Amino acid sequence: MMLGTWSFSARGCERAWPQLVVGGESLDAVCAAAREAEVDPTVNSVGFGGLPDANGQVSLDACVMVAPNRCGAVCAVTRHLCVTDLARLVMETTPHVMLAGEGADVFADSLGMAASVLLSADAKSAWLKWRSGDVSGGTTDHGIDRGAAIGVASAASAIGERMVAHDTIGVLAIDTRGVMAGACSTSGLPYKRSGRVGDSPIPGHGLYVDPEVGGAVATGNGELIMGVSGSFLAVECIRRGATPAQAVHEVLERIERHFHPGPEQQIGVIALARDGTWSAGALRTGFAVSVADGAGIRAVAPEFVLHGAPHDEGRST
Ligand code: ASP
Repeated sequence: MMLGTWSFSARGCERAWPQLVVGGESLDAVCAAAREAEVDPTVNSVGFGGLPDANGQVSLDACVMVAPNRCGAVCAVTRHLCVTDLARLVMETTPHVMLAGEGADVFADSLGMAASVLLSADAKSAWLKWRSGDVSGGTTDHGIDRGAAIGVASAASAIGERMVAHDTIGVLAIDTRGVMAGACSTSGLPYKRSGRVGDSPIPGHGLYVDPEVGGAVATGNGELIMGVSGSFLAVECIRRGATPAQAVHEVLERIERHFHPGPEQQIGVIALARDGTWSAGALRTGFAVSVADGAGIRAVAPEFVLHGAPHDEGRST
């Protein structure tokens, strides 16, 4: 099965699913799903098309994880697009876990990966509007999944053009051999301070996988997730006997308790136990989770929302 953050990850699941069901590896599946979002210019929070930092520079973060001793990451990449593949190459070809900034780009150059322009015309014009003080280029639509807002419960293709993509793609998959893998890819918070890196590329924060237990992904305001080691915390809760729903709840409550998040701050967490049971939750309405399993590929509302009913989408449209 596959689980992904936000409804736009259903398109990545659709891409990866045919190989996964015929015996493909979970690591290939999660990388394929993340790559799908990275190359999609309509996804304004991942890869090409991602909104830039305050200086107009797009910088990308990603990580992959199969086990505590098998993870790789890159952050603040400014010249290469397929950062999930790059993170995987850090894991597979170096003794390190994370490469940052120019060092990560030089590593990609050394592997012969083609350099890319990351700033799309739409992202540039949104940034110019934001810089001129026009809030319509701003950040308020992040954290609200329009796919969820229109009641999406069917296949990703049904979401169609109306879907507005949001936030980090984080994907977990279990393959036919029972091996779990996860990937996470983002352009980070829109208009962030230059040099800022969030939770997404850091094992234990944006993504954590322990084959003895399961995996988890967090998305939303990375500073809050980093404060509680969100994805690690979810997996640890499951290790100690919690259900995935209880684990996700614990992460959100811990964030609530320490940060008292404002209405503009959103966190979504998904957790998948090694037996295939899973859950998703969010601080507030607007989050969606994509699921691929024997019943098909679909984007659904999370099991619970700390502030508000999962289907109360009044503030989302
Ligand atoms: N967690 C990401 C970050 O803080 C952003 C997101 O998931 O929307 O960089």
